[in-house]
Amino acid sequence: MIQSGVTSDLIVCGAGPAGRALAHRALAQGQSVTVIDPRPGHRWTATYAAWADELPEWVPSRTFAAVVERPAVWTTRRIEVEREYVVFDTAALQDSLDLTGATIITDRVAEIVPPSRSGPHALDMPSVRLPSGAVLPGGRVVDARGIPRSPALAEQTAYGVVIDSEQWAEPDTLFMDWRADNGADPGEPRSFFYAIPLSANTILLEETCLAGRPALESHTLEDRLMHRLRSRGITLTGTERVERVRFPVEGGRPRAGFFGAAGALTHPATGYSVAAALRTADGVALGDSIWTPAARTVNRLRQTGLRALLTLPPQDLPLFFDAFFALPVARQRAYLSGRDDLPGTAAAMSALFAALPWRLRRKLAAAIVR
Ligand SMILES: Cc1cc2nc3c(=O)[nH]c(=O)nc-3n(C[C@H](O)[C@H](O)[C@H](O)COP(=O)(O)OP(=O)(O)OC[C@H]3O[C@@H](n4cnc5c(N)ncnc54)[C@H](O)[C@@H]3O)c2cc1C
Repeated sequence: MIQSGVTSDLIVCGAGPAGRALAHRALAQGQSVTVIDPRPGHRWTATYAAWADELPEWVPSRTFAAVVERPAVWTTRRIEVEREYVVFDTAALQDSLDLTGATIITDRVAEIVPPSRSGPHALDMPSVRLPSGAVLPGGRVVDARGIPRSPALAEQTAYGVVIDSEQWAEPDTLFMDWRADNGADPGEPRSFFYAIPLSANTILLEETCLAGRPALESHTLEDRLMHRLRSRGITLTGTERVERVRFPVEGGRPRAGFFGAAGALTHPATGYSVAAALRTADGVALGDSIWTPAARTVNRLRQTGLRALLTLPPQDLPLFFDAFFALPVARQRAYLSGRDDLPGTAAAMSALFAALPWRLRRKLAAAIVR
């Protein structure tokens, strides 16, 4: 065993949004931090967004590219969601999670080894093994390496283009638009349209498959987006910046030692995890357990929600979201953001169930029992 001289209070494996947020907050608390990532300086390109009320106050407003007061949802009708939605300036968010003072190691973590008091490599603190064989012990080690893709895991996929906002005539920021003008046959898996400002003069238009096992392929979403944009009178030049999205919405481990997507912070019914990581980074940096019994039960309820989504016939998804977005915002918030709010999550799910037509209730009940 080659033991490195570096010992930190905290070793963070992975410098995506979660790992970087955790390392940043641990540094702010005065801890010594090591961050290991094969590409630690890699610039993030994904467009991240979150509900404003989910964000901790230490996230500076200069990281916001746009703040939308009331995003709209289209189901069988137009609904305004009375909840502020923030689109991040991705580069500014990454830069704000400053890692000055951390030891940065550009490498892959081969293995995270728990403390052990016996055996030839006994170390009574956790450690990280690098491919070279070097071993780095640390006071605590947190795995924020994301989730590798697998056909067993439901994924979210999307295809988007960035256009000049002058080309966008609709007055709304569209959080979720299920209108059927994307050329898909009614029996095919559904995708929705997402239209959000990225700056004062650019807008992202994206066709999204919320969750699928397997999810819709990028080329299908591209065809649907092109069809939808033609239906809405928007002509592309072919030179627009493209965003392709594909990531698992399940597969994380809800336990200490894991964080971000790896730590089950991804909401399986929305794919969102960035705000949850920012919000819990301080506590995890301090060594608190964020997986209380209530949070574990909420996590299981959310998995049930994903099962329900995957079970619903495609033509019923707009009805399902119509019932969801007709709930009071406090209920919506509890389900979407109440990571450890068990009474709120259970109340939101019951209210949603009660608001659905009988036909859908029967289908969902069968899926949940299964
Ligand atoms: C295009 C796109 C748009 C999205 N939009 C949103 C959104 O609007 N809002 C939202 O909340 N979520 C969004 N998501 C989903 C989700 O929040 C992201 O996937 C988020 O990046 C998860 O963060 P993470 O840090 O947990 O994991 P990752 O971003 O996957 O980061 C993992 C890090 O670990 C590193 N790593 C991997 N293997 C190793 C190893 N062996 N050793 C060391 N390091 C390793 C990787 O290099 C990477 O830097 C989006 C995802 C995509 C792809």
